[in-house]
Amino acid sequence: MDGNALAKRVRMDVKKQAARLDAPPGLAVIIVGHNPASEVYVAHKEKDCARCGIVSHTYRLGEEAGQEKLPALIHRLNNQPDIHGILVQLPLPGGYGAEAVLQAIAPEKDVDAFHTVTAGKFYLNKGPTFLPCTPAGVMELLDAYAIDPRGKHAVVVGHSNIVGKPMAMMLLQRDATVTICHIHTADLAMHTRMADILVCAVGKAGLITAGMVKPGAVVIDVGINRDGNKICGDVDFDAVGKIASHITPVPGGVGPMTRAMLMKNTLEAAKNIATR
Ligand code: NAP
Repeated sequence: MDGNALAKRVRMDVKKQAARLDAPPGLAVIIVGHNPASEVYVAHKEKDCARCGIVSHTYRLGEEAGQEKLPALIHRLNNQPDIHGILVQLPLPGGYGAEAVLQAIAPEKDVDAFHTVTAGKFYLNKGPTFLPCTPAGVMELLDAYAIDPRGKHAVVVGHSNIVGKPMAMMLLQRDATVTICHIHTADLAMHTRMADILVCAVGKAGLITAGMVKPGAVVIDVGINRDGNKICGDVDFDAVGKIASHITPVPGGVGPMTRAMLMKNTLEAAKNIATR
């Protein structure tokens, strides 16, 4: 499944819709301290914004000064009309209390979908709200390849708040029967072998081998594992690719879709704010 190609289509659609607004959508990205991986992610987001006609505003705060300045910056951006989406790049330096920081973002600008109000609306299916980007990107991939979750057995490995749990909920909301597996699951393979749709979001290279996958299954690999300059997912791509009906590569599968969904959420935020 080609996440790069689909992400490009999503970005083109966002660009078209953004051009119809009176003012371009604005995305504020806040980065605190010096984390090389975060710098790479922020650079990608800036590039995506430029491709979509979204104005990106990057705010860099020093690790120490940020403790004091971050709440005031978020407060200002919450009230700034040309900013429609706000995200704080995680992880924050130690001692920052990420939870309080994320809760300070106005829910109508919470394009990463980490606020409890956003999550509450999503889990109760009482929208409109923003959808968490990674699982929303997976759902777009399934739709693009005409894979309907209804009536299928979906198995999600990993139960984090940002990927596993919302992934399971999205599949449930589309009428799949869902099993959620995690570190304490006894006999992981017994569950994964029953999956029509298998989503792995753990962060452990080689976790899913061919013997753990039902022939013909759809396999979505969310994991990102780094070995020097090489990146791979959680799934043994070569072996599993021979028996799966569909499989996402890493890189080039879920990653670009996650970023595309952030652009889509920022567009939605701008549209919502414009029509208030
Ligand atoms: P996380 O918060 O570390 O969650 C990992 C999950 O995997 C936890 O629920 C953990 O269970 C479970 N787990 C750990 N070892 C396991 C095992 N051996 N068997 C079964 N479950 C196991 O990570 P995350 O934020 O959800 O991200 C997961 C992976 O996806 C990472 O590699 C991350 O880099 C990647 N990711 C990719 C994208 C993308 O756009 N492609 C976006 C976000 C994340 P416990 O909590 O019980 O230990």
